[in-house]
Amino acid sequence: MQDFLPARAAGLRRIARIAEDVARLYGFERVEIPILERASLYRRSLGLDSDVVMKEMYSFEDKKDKNDRSDELCLRPEGTAGVVRMLIENGLTQTLPQRWFYEGAMFRRERPQRGRFRQFHQCGVECLHKPARDVYNIDKEVEVVACAWRFLIKLGLKDVIELKINWLGNTEERARYSEVLRQHFQQYAKNEALSDESIERLKRSPLRILDSKNSVDQEAIEKAPPFVLNKISQDNFDKVQESFESLKIPYSCDTRLVRGLDYYNGFVFEFVENRTERAQATVLAGGRYDGLCVELGGKNPVSAIGWAAGLERLLEFQENEKIQTADPRITKICLIGNDSFKASDYGRDLVNLIEDLRNEFCKNNFSGAAFFESSSYEEAEKTKPDYIAFVARKEGQPYQIKLTNVSTGDVVFDFDLHNSEVNFNNWLVDNFGNKNEDP
Ligand code: ATP
Ligand code: MG
Repeated sequence: MQDFLPARAAGLRRIARIAEDVARLYGFERVEIPILERASLYRRSLGLDSDVVMKEMYSFEDKKDKNDRSDELCLRPEGTAGVVRMLIENGLTQTLPQRWFYEGAMFRRERPQRGRFRQFHQCGVECLHKPARDVYNIDKEVEVVACAWRFLIKLGLKDVIELKINWLGNTEERARYSEVLRQHFQQYAKNEALSDESIERLKRSPLRILDSKNSVDQEAIEKAPPFVLNKISQDNFDKVQESFESLKIPYSCDTRLVRGLDYYNGFVFEFVENRTERAQATVLAGGRYDGLCVELGGKNPVSAIGWAAGLERLLEFQENEKIQTADPRITKICLIGNDSFKASDYGRDLVNLIEDLRNEFCKNNFSGAAFFESSSYEEAEKTKPDYIAFVARKEGQPYQIKLTNVSTGDVVFDFDLHNSEVNFNNWLVDNFGNKNEDP
């Protein structure tokens, strides 16, 4: 779990804000899902063989109620299951489409390593819509990927990130392919060229082995026979690719791409950083999950497709590329009172004066400044202010303010507050007026 000092905290918040802005452009509205859910929600949705359910859930038994019953609760490891539960419990499975965006902390008890944390942040979109009646429409596939791509471009990551796509087909196609894979991996299991975890998965979900990051499994994965789709699936997959071409979204097909969670069918995709080793390279991933709503007890089938992105990895890649997306820096203005302020009444006066400045600032809708006080020049320096204002007041006389630009040493102005308000307001307008636009 990580602490975020101000600079990185600002970087993380800004990524989340850009995600939300882009999502809004695509009609996704923000929702909030609880951080604690029943553990059974994830068992049912993610699959018993998923990494998350097998070993990563932070789950615990809640206190017993008066009937001596208790629930097993779990800190959310991801957002999709909670979103679908929310759709069902709020009776919205027939009020479609619903297009939602979420963002927040997720928890997985993973082996700590670079790019993998036990508390991390994800943002994501989920597009919940009516199942296709006759002809399958690929517009949602294209739309959610376009949304993700626009988000990554806005973060400045266009040149270091690649889109990988695959089509997992329907239940029968997956069952057929699972059988092919089972036979393939069994050979490797016999020769002890498969990890224990993958041997375990061989029984129930050989497909999942393709997602293994364990180095022991890599040869078996590379040699695995490709997924052969039936005609309808292949046609749809081709149509998606044609759309990406016409929208100029670069992509490559990867038949090994299966995603780690059980609920996916049809189209799946990942955006991968092209220089990082595979285990930590995925920054954003998603796909279609049409079966999940009914699986979680929804009465009506709901078609769904979405993605989730890991904010820490995005931040790290931005840092590697030296891309600065933290908020435009706030101009810090530190006021230091002269000795007379250190006497009791004057101390309060200085705080009042600063509060007055803040009021003035708010009244004018200015943005981008922080006013605060320090008791000495040395203390002020440590906070790295842009301007230092020495405020002097002699008994019975108006305040005298001398504002110095710390980096140039220039005295920006030197005036008597009560007689020169115009002057100070001009300075505020020059420096902070109309600066609300996003750089
Ligand atoms: P992986 O295969 O890397 O374990 P996953 O399939 O478990 O990923 P998803 O559940 O699809 O990942 O989550 C989407 C994104 O969330 C990932 O692509 C990644 O950027 C981020 N993410 C997942 N787990 C972590 C973690 N433990 N720490 C930081 N980011 C994470
Ligand atoms: Mg994982």
